[in-house]
Amino acid sequence: QWIFLSGEFVRKEDAKISVYDHGFLYGDGVFEGIRAYDGVLYKLDEHLLRLYESAKSIMLDIPYDVVEMRELVVDTVRKNDLRDAYVRLVVSRGVGNLGLDPNSCSTAQVVIIAEELALFPKELYETGLEIVSVATRRNRPDVLSPKVKSLNYLNNILVKIEANLAGVPEALMMNNEGFVAEGSGDNIFLVKNKTLYTPPGYVGALEGITRQAIIELAEEEGYVIKQEPFTRHDVYVADEVFLTGTAAEVIAVVKVDGRVINDGKPGPETEYITERFRDKVKTDGTS
Ligand code: PLP
Repeated sequence: QWIFLSGEFVRKEDAKISVYDHGFLYGDGVFEGIRAYDGVLYKLDEHLLRLYESAKSIMLDIPYDVVEMRELVVDTVRKNDLRDAYVRLVVSRGVGNLGLDPNSCSTAQVVIIAEELALFPKELYETGLEIVSVATRRNRPDVLSPKVKSLNYLNNILVKIEANLAGVPEALMMNNEGFVAEGSGDNIFLVKNKTLYTPPGYVGALEGITRQAIIELAEEEGYVIKQEPFTRHDVYVADEVFLTGTAAEVIAVVKVDGRVINDGKPGPETEYITERFRDKVKTDGTS
């Protein structure tokens, strides 16, 4: 396996960064997760736009322009002979001294990893997930916008730890007002009376690229889509619930905090949307 690091491709065993990298010391950096389906990098431009916007927001200069970066991502997938891949693109502030000040870091570090990845075991895509809601809150959008996909993922990690403790594969976090925000690394949708609901970005959810793709696809298919805040009660009484994300793709949720959704099986709308999504991913990207 080849990793892009410090301007070149190195073997996985040799892909090491300095302990003085501020990505390591402070979580100072941004990242993206991108998928390739049958050689096509799905929504690559959207991911690159989000990466550069995240970087701009935290005043991080990426040492490549977007055209060069697009090429590097494509090259990393090719170099590893992958057709179906998950690509992790990380830009950290780079090597500095022990102080917080990013001015001590002269150049950002760009790392690109491409490998095969299945976030959840295959059978969970057939059976659907059991999830729980947890105490960890999404960081407040007015403090650090969830639109910034930064290397500070501690609250998402705490969500995952709470999921692990509950013995379930994923969990839901609320915002400080108690409205449902998102999962540890995925967005949530409800289906109720043929209408799709997903929390708006201002609630504290990352406006996921998969989320946007599902909204567009569902609009084309004639669903009504409402981006509005909702509570756990609305999740419990939904006809169907599903999660979306680059890593998760689309996956049904069949139990939330012990409340059974759709008799404990993935629902028909979720299955239809999942099928349409799988058709689309093969065409909508960069080869
Ligand atoms: N929410 C969080 C916190 C994430 O990290 C991700 C993954 O990127 C998502 C949602 C889903 O976003 P996307 O569909 O762009 O992968």
